[in-house]
Amino acid sequence: MLPSSPPTTLTLTALALTPSPAPASPPPDTGRGGGAGLWLLLALAGFIWLIAHLVSVRLHPLRTCRACDGTGLHRGHFFTHTMRLCRRCGGTRRELRPGARATGHRDH
Ligand SMILES: [Zn+2]
Repeated sequence: MLPSSPPTTLTLTALALTPSPAPASPPPDTGRGGGAGLWLLLALAGFIWLIAHLVSVRLHPLRTCRACDGTGLHRGHFFTHTMRLCRRCGGTRRELRPGARATGHRDH
């Protein structure tokens, strides 16, 4: 009985030749660091953003009114040629930014 070479040997050798990926070993756990440092960095960035925001609100307490998009007018939805003064800004086209206090002086 002679063992005849089956055609499957070709596919077997092809499979053996394909480089098998290295077994994914989990990275060695260092114990600490990594996550804590990232959170500290995020907190620091948030703190810097908050300070910059407070300074910006103090310097520029007003912003463009978002209700009327700076037009000072509110147009009718049905009759689009009609309009009235924006109730949010009263036609001034600007509104106080959140966190800003209304100052007594008038910039006219
Ligand atoms: Zn407005």
